[in-house]
Amino acid sequence: MSTFQAPKGTYDLTPPRSAKFLAVREAISAPLRNSGYGYIETPGFEDVNLFARGVGESTDIVSKEMYAFETKGGDKLALRPEGTASVLRAALEANLHKAGNLPVKLWYSGSYYRYERPQAGRYRHFSQVGAEAIGTEDPALDAELIILADQAYRSLGLTRFRILLNSLGDKECRPVYREALQGFLRDLDLDLDEETRRRIEINPLRVLDDKRTDVRKQLVGAPMLRDYLCDACKAYHEEVRVLLTAAGVVYEDDEKLVRGLDYYTRTTFEFVHDGLGSQSAVGGGGRYDGLSEMIGGPALPSVGWALGVDRTVLALEAEGVELPIPAATSVYAVPLGEEARRVLFGLVTQLRREGVATDFAFGGRGLKGAMKSANRSGARFTLVAGERDLAEGNVQLKDMESGEQEAVALADVSEVIRGRLSAPGA
Ligand code: ATP
Ligand code: MG
Repeated sequence: MSTFQAPKGTYDLTPPRSAKFLAVREAISAPLRNSGYGYIETPGFEDVNLFARGVGESTDIVSKEMYAFETKGGDKLALRPEGTASVLRAALEANLHKAGNLPVKLWYSGSYYRYERPQAGRYRHFSQVGAEAIGTEDPALDAELIILADQAYRSLGLTRFRILLNSLGDKECRPVYREALQGFLRDLDLDLDEETRRRIEINPLRVLDDKRTDVRKQLVGAPMLRDYLCDACKAYHEEVRVLLTAAGVVYEDDEKLVRGLDYYTRTTFEFVHDGLGSQSAVGGGGRYDGLSEMIGGPALPSVGWALGVDRTVLALEAEGVELPIPAATSVYAVPLGEEARRVLFGLVTQLRREGVATDFAFGGRGLKGAMKSANRSGARFTLVAGERDLAEGNVQLKDMESGEQEAVALADVSEVIRGRLSAPGA
């Protein structure tokens, strides 16, 4: 332990668990990479107003959770709390939407920062893989994204997740509903706290998202958005549902699902996992037809999602899923004596250049300690050589699975090893 520790609400990814995070990022992005989504990377911080305008001034993310700061040069920046606003900003800046190929389909993977109360599954630094499909209004696109997320979770071996689906309406029907809901909420003469009162005025839909039981009790009988959807929104939503059902993707209609970002319109969805306790959302997303204009761009109806890598790993652990993570090392070399060190180190370098994952017993330890390390490395083969082996032009090749050991001519070692590693069942 040093004098320092990871800051509150953060944690380090260290081997062997860190391998799961890489595998999860890989598994979530694989279906996207296979479906026309190109990789995008944006800075870890942005102009604070991008989020204030894009995500919404009244959201918890912006008003409470954002790491905003002023630089020495006087720029007002914020560590990115989410990915969508940045990705859309970058796509507009690069004119990707003008290349005549809509939708612009992008995927990303990175760290996000929110000043939250740390608890299991809720951190101040966390990681997401996300996807955005920009510039097209088509229910098949909404369906595609949900299907790809479902495919990603399934490919990881997760089964205890559910998909919650809702429509938030559009700029025609949502304002009418908003007013009806506001009327209902204002008339509640039961005592609501100050903040909820304020929320009723700024963002009444989010009151429906309140998880507190005393608040939920008062919401019984509130007008439901479903009853206010305009015909266009209804038809759009129905088409998304039909396409999901045809794809065999099971979802639950959840008319209370509003999500914490202002930019969503029409389709919204959340992936929840039943093994995670209160931080149950492993991912979420939806359509955001108005966001581009909110940040000064042209009208670009879009849809996207972000899946939380940290919570996905927790979900895997909750389900007891062991990801098939191959051993990092295939061959481990153990030299006995100075001359053998030089020869084996050369062999290790050669094997690595030929693409064989190889490691070496550094530090001149004895045979016993070195063999322990060989075992721990998970290597399939160990190479041991002492003076006598070298005098005969050999090394000892030990198969760590069968325990068999044989002398192999130094000149043949690489070929023999590569042959055995590529053999079926190796
Ligand atoms: P929650 O309701 O749990 O606060 P959210 O609606 O704020 O989630 P989104 O902004 O939709 O979450 O982000 C998508 C995903 O990113 C979440 O489903 C979750 O898996 C992950 N995520 C969000 N905030 C955190 C956090 N503080 N720590 C870890 N993962 C997070
Ligand atoms: Mg949140």
